[in-house]
Amino acid sequence: MTIQIYNTLTRMKEPFVPMEEGKVKMYVCGPTVYNYIHIGNARPVIVFDTVRRYLEYRGYDVTYVSNFTDVDDKIIKAANELGEEVGELTDRFINAYFEDVSALGCGKADVHPRVTDHIEDIVKFVEVLIDKGFAYESQGDVYYRTQKFDGYGKLSHQSTDELKVGARIEEGNKKENPLDFALWKAAKMGEISWGSPWGLGRPGWHIECSVMAREHLGDTIDIHAGGQDLTFPHHENEIAQSEAMTGKQFARYWMHNGYINIDNEKMSKSLGNFVLVNDIRKQVDPKVLRFFMLSVHYRHPVNFSENLVVSAQNGLERIRTAYNNLKHRLEASADLGDQKDIWNYKVDEIKNAFELAMDDDFNTANAIAAIFELSKLANVYLLEKNTQSDVLNHFIETFDGLMKVLGVPLDDETSLLDEDIDALIEERLEARRNRDFGRSDEIRDQLKEQGILLEDTAQGTRWKRG
Ligand SMILES: [Zn+2]
Repeated sequence: MTIQIYNTLTRMKEPFVPMEEGKVKMYVCGPTVYNYIHIGNARPVIVFDTVRRYLEYRGYDVTYVSNFTDVDDKIIKAANELGEEVGELTDRFINAYFEDVSALGCGKADVHPRVTDHIEDIVKFVEVLIDKGFAYESQGDVYYRTQKFDGYGKLSHQSTDELKVGARIEEGNKKENPLDFALWKAAKMGEISWGSPWGLGRPGWHIECSVMAREHLGDTIDIHAGGQDLTFPHHENEIAQSEAMTGKQFARYWMHNGYINIDNEKMSKSLGNFVLVNDIRKQVDPKVLRFFMLSVHYRHPVNFSENLVVSAQNGLERIRTAYNNLKHRLEASADLGDQKDIWNYKVDEIKNAFELAMDDDFNTANAIAAIFELSKLANVYLLEKNTQSDVLNHFIETFDGLMKVLGVPLDDETSLLDEDIDALIEERLEARRNRDFGRSDEIRDQLKEQGILLEDTAQGTRWKRG
């Protein structure tokens, strides 16, 4: 079956057919890096990491790009308050971001472009928009002329008249139309800025994604994704910029994830109910957090409450117990009995149910239900004192494959951190210096068991996860 994706642009589930067979170009809007991320920021990272994993599971070669907004008003304000350079602050929070999301089981993107590395490209892009009549300079700022773009409002399904009602009339009257938005902002005194044909300044927020998506993925991308709050104005503006620039469709499938509520209330600074990933992952296993987030379909709101997280934890524990029992039984397997075809067939049926759920707009809630079915089936199998290694292995491999799609591996309880690996490599080197080859081989084997492959080169020992 073809994967169906709910496309915000058409408000329909559509069969997913990428532009180039077998390849997917995917862009996910990333964070503005001036603070630790909260669980609302973490949701799109987890959701779209899972989408990427499932596309890869289905054999697609995915190129995944996710940006860092590393200059904007909030960043400048935070840097001023802390007496820090903008670059120092953003580097610090980019590192913190990677720590948080990798704890949540999210892989790195193929490219994590930063705005400050693309200023020249942005200036060039804006110049073209001005040349084409889609943008105009006004007192050192540059604005996008929304009236000139026919499809403005098509993603958020609003007419420009409807949009105007909600638009803020700003002081100074620098804009031709209240719906116009800044592509370039003139620098205020003492602010970080770059030279441009319009004087010192810096890019507006929306332009960065148009420029970086084009730079790293080309004129048209397959999937553009982000939180639901980005639909308008951010993604609407990205479309206006990119399509005015290229005359081509910018993104073919637009995916948006729903909000997170805390104990049924909206998460907000004023309510003081912000939950930072960095805090919560010290209290709750981050794999449980991920499993919890995926227990709800990505387009629905998630209610974050202690009860629900505990129930996710218990659920994951049940799955893990069934999995570990299968592994123990395997050690004592005897290949008796002749019912293996029936059991393998039942396992495959559940695997199909998982795939059907994921094919249906990445319905992880139903996919997780299938995994619970698999643990129930495993428990029945084990209760009947069955010991066919063939069946046990089929169960285990199916668990491994499906849980890997969810990014919640079951066999990682002893998994090694990078620091541990480096320490073991150092110990192995020391053993070799002392000609203790027994210990050196032991360490190599121990790492191999954990899927870490070593390669000795003239420059030293390198390692990779196999
Ligand atoms: Zn964006």
